[in-house]
Amino acid sequence: MTDTVTDRFLRYVVIDTQSDPTSSTQPSTDKQKNLGRMPVEELLAIGLSDAHLDEHGYVYATIPSNVDKPVPVICFCSHMDTAPDFTGTNVKPQIVRSYSGGDIRLSGDPQQIIRVADNPALNDQIGNDIITTDGTTLLGADDKAGIAEIMTAAQILVDNPDIKHGAIKILFTPDEEIGRGVDKVDLEKLGARFAYTMDGETAGHIEDETFSADGVEITIQGVAIHPGFAKGKMENAIKIAGEIISRLPKNLAPETTEGREGFVHPTGVTGSMEKAALNLIVRDFNDDGLAAKEAMLERIIKQVMADYPGSSYGFKVKPQYRNMKAILDRHPEIIDNAVEAIRRAGMEPVRGSIRGGTDGSRLSFMSLPCPNIFAGGHAFHSPLEWVSRQDMEKAVKTIVELAKIWEERA
Ligand SMILES: [Zn+2]
Repeated sequence: MTDTVTDRFLRYVVIDTQSDPTSSTQPSTDKQKNLGRMPVEELLAIGLSDAHLDEHGYVYATIPSNVDKPVPVICFCSHMDTAPDFTGTNVKPQIVRSYSGGDIRLSGDPQQIIRVADNPALNDQIGNDIITTDGTTLLGADDKAGIAEIMTAAQILVDNPDIKHGAIKILFTPDEEIGRGVDKVDLEKLGARFAYTMDGETAGHIEDETFSADGVEITIQGVAIHPGFAKGKMENAIKIAGEIISRLPKNLAPETTEGREGFVHPTGVTGSMEKAALNLIVRDFNDDGLAAKEAMLERIIKQVMADYPGSSYGFKVKPQYRNMKAILDRHPEIIDNAVEAIRRAGMEPVRGSIRGGTDGSRLSFMSLPCPNIFAGGHAFHSPLEWVSRQDMEKAVKTIVELAKIWEERA
């Protein structure tokens, strides 16, 4: 009896694995290990004897090579947690069998409708089986679709010794959604040369570019004085912060940019008359663009501060992650092989960039180059999330083909 990718997916999504950015533990929520234990048992059952869940909440396993020649060790990676944005407790997956088109009304909440107008990708799913929630939780296709796909591909590789491949590593991470997915990963233990996250959206897509990202912390020291005696003396730090915010260029914001444009985005502000703090994130696809936006930000601050001679400011840039393309371009075979695998799995490959970061962007800079392949999910982090059985099956095929191609070309 062999489980399909859909069987596995339905089994994994009902386990609540929401991560928590306010937690300081690793993993951030203990319940993520409830999911981690399940694929470990399943991998041990199919004979991958090193499969284990470690104390930090990571799952590691190896599919041993079945050829004599040396083949680069590649790794497939997915994250087990779901986003803090929407509840993942008590997920009740629903299946729309052979979808005939039109909006999908979710049974548990009449307000929740997956509309074709918002999801043009539904037009490519006619006749497919679409999995949704009942509208009261997120689904967790991000990224349990990836886990189900890697697990199913592992089963296929183990069951079919005629498929030649090198050693393949499996890695499932906790806490990706809160940016800590690779904090405690043991790359030496993993022992892979290259990796692929299965965490993208539309079938056929591969992403080899992410934003480069910095955080900026601005502190403002104003001049505090009793309001009754303030004339000509008070410099209210709250107002200074407000002026800085109001001068941020409107055309460099998340709400006004798309494609390859970057932005400057305030994420938090606190203040009193005496002092204020302003947090921003800066995003761009290249480091020069990032630096230019930070220089612009500091020019704005200086212009504002010129009117407040008694006040001062601090400006701190904290690097967050970098565009993985700089690393991936040094190893073109990683993308070439993936593009070929997508083609052999019956799709037209589409290369793209991510307006965000992935576990892969950090892994790439930790010496494990790692682009992102589609997992098939859509409308991530919301109760309208959906994925089709057929797209998950295409992802399974892509993984198997990729394993073959690395062996062929070694
Ligand atoms: Zn994800």
